[in-house]
Amino acid sequence: MQHLYIHVPFCQRRCSYCDFSIAVRKRIPAREFVDVILKEARGADLENLETIYFGGGTPSLLPPEAIGALLHELTSSRRTPHAAREVTIEANPEDVTVESARAWMAAGINRVSLGAQSFDDRVLNWMHRSHDAERIGAAVHALRGAGIENISLDLIFGLPEELNRDWERDLDMALALRPAHLSLYGLTIEPRTPLDRWISRGATQAPGDDRYAEEYLTAHRRLTADGYSFYEVSNASLPGFRSRHNSAYWSGNAYLGLGPAAHSFDGRTRRWNLRAWEAYRRAVAEGRSAVDSEETLTDEQRELERVYLALRTSEGLALTVPYRPLPSLTVQGWVVVRDGRLKCTPEGWLRLDSLVSDLTMQTETP
Ligand code: SF4
Repeated sequence: MQHLYIHVPFCQRRCSYCDFSIAVRKRIPAREFVDVILKEARGADLENLETIYFGGGTPSLLPPEAIGALLHELTSSRRTPHAAREVTIEANPEDVTVESARAWMAAGINRVSLGAQSFDDRVLNWMHRSHDAERIGAAVHALRGAGIENISLDLIFGLPEELNRDWERDLDMALALRPAHLSLYGLTIEPRTPLDRWISRGATQAPGDDRYAEEYLTAHRRLTADGYSFYEVSNASLPGFRSRHNSAYWSGNAYLGLGPAAHSFDGRTRRWNLRAWEAYRRAVAEGRSAVDSEETLTDEQRELERVYLALRTSEGLALTVPYRPLPSLTVQGWVVVRDGRLKCTPEGWLRLDSLVSDLTMQTETP
């Protein structure tokens, strides 16, 4: 296996828009977490790991010693190089200090994905984030001081109108830090989140599609002008700093997931673990399988997924079959054909789902 994901489910509170599988904890059960992950990993193929990704939840809440212990145990006795080529941790800016940055570096972390989201304290407060804008710059400086240059910033766009969020200012503030990588996510309203409840009782309004599109296209223009390249619908990087781990997902490669709610994929079958931390912990501790369920993709599903994943990326889709709607999609400026590959324009990426369904429903039979 070349790609390993470890889900760390702990958070200090739930953000207003979040429906991830998390466990809100004041005290992080780090020792228990390390033990249970190592137990789940027993017998797994962890040779030749190329990437390791600590996602969450908030992995930066784990003490650096716990991260170090996991990396040591999962890699040291195997053919994996001392450190896999890319080892990422998702971090809350508040958890990044000079000490934690140095400790992560010493443990083998060489990439940090910071959940910045916005540089406006009012907006961060609305999101229920625990950091303020100032902490983002301080975190970037602490990481660079420790020798970690491969830093990614997450930003959320498409917020409700009444927040009057200044998206251009947020982009300027992010670009002023010159991160190696940026991930931009449009706000979605997930059921049973605080945001969903606010909307149901009329306390706020769901953001409109126009704002979403305008902000997405603005980000494309600004980042591209600053030397970033969008290599995937939501991700842009400076040259040489694409996320290898996430690129493996978009290429349809196999990966192993450990931890509650973690997904694994062997190229045809996808499995996912029990979502709740307690249920997962008990199952593994009692020697039962942590897998909640699985699905094996049919040939048709695999093809649909292949088209969808390829069109998410800047490499696009190899044009091996004639697609009937292609001329009209090209005229509308949503796709281009270059070097025998079909690629989405930014306007095409905005309507990726419908574009994929148009293409796959209407393949010409020769
Ligand atoms: S920190 Fe991330 S995982 Fe935790 S509640 Fe907020 S958005 Fe969800």
